[in-house]
Amino acid sequence: MIVINTILELNSWYNHIKLNNVSLGFIPTMGALHEGHISLVEKSVSENDFTIVSIFVNPTQFNNTNDFVNYPITIENDTLLLKQSKCDVLFLPTTQEIYSNNINSTNYKFSGIEKVMEGKHRPGHFDGVATIVSKLFNFVKPDIAYFGEKDFQQLLIIKELVKLERIPLKVVGMPIYREENGLAMSSRNTRLSSSQREESSLIFKTLQTVKSMFLDSVPIRDINTYVKNIFINTNLKLEYFEVRENNSLKFAKKISENKKHRAFISVFVGEVRLIDNIALF
Ligand code: AMP
Repeated sequence: MIVINTILELNSWYNHIKLNNVSLGFIPTMGALHEGHISLVEKSVSENDFTIVSIFVNPTQFNNTNDFVNYPITIENDTLLLKQSKCDVLFLPTTQEIYSNNINSTNYKFSGIEKVMEGKHRPGHFDGVATIVSKLFNFVKPDIAYFGEKDFQQLLIIKELVKLERIPLKVVGMPIYREENGLAMSSRNTRLSSSQREESSLIFKTLQTVKSMFLDSVPIRDINTYVKNIFINTNLKLEYFEVRENNSLKFAKKISENKKHRAFISVFVGEVRLIDNIALF
């Protein structure tokens, strides 16, 4: 695996490999890699001639300075994991390389999916995400890019971004990788104590119960009440729980047979904010 720090080097590597008709898979990350990230890398390695992973903790997508400052950085371990998973290139740029002297995001207008849930609770977050992903797509020029359903709303935003900016690539969504106790893997989990990690398994347990209630046709308002009550008297603080249509993210007031739904949740465990979701079909 080679490590590339500049766009100049990236271009010369790209021009070299693209002399032949090869496919390039890309996984953008913020590092502190875990098996969830690696499942995306392995998928890309199995489907493409070359795989490139970027690690860049993007300042413009953090609406909370504390979260940005405390974001875990584990480059040595990340490099080792990427080598083991047969990644070809690690793109590790500086902020200067990506943003020059203008650390700002573009204001995007998507179909409305950017305004709810993560968009509502983290103002500016999706503008930051779309800005960095658009820049990275233009620098890396991949054929396929892989994103996790762990950040399902983000995955939908990226699909809209690609259409909006007519970027010629395929976006692939990958299933959520979980710890043994069901907690969705996240770089932020390293900030949890072992007892907090254990307690956080309640998030996925709740989502599983929600799924079976939904499939048993329990009304959504009763499911909402169930979820609100479950976190009372625990160390987890519910930020939001919402059942929405799978692709439009429209509110699901009533269950309709011909639409697919998904439940989304955000919970604070101490200072750490965790999100998760489950398909209700
Ligand atoms: P991040 O480093 O958190 O920006 O994540 C980089 C990519 O990995 C995103 O597409 C995430 O959705 C994906 N990802 C993060 N955690 C998981 C997980 N537990 N399972 C699958 N994909 C994940």
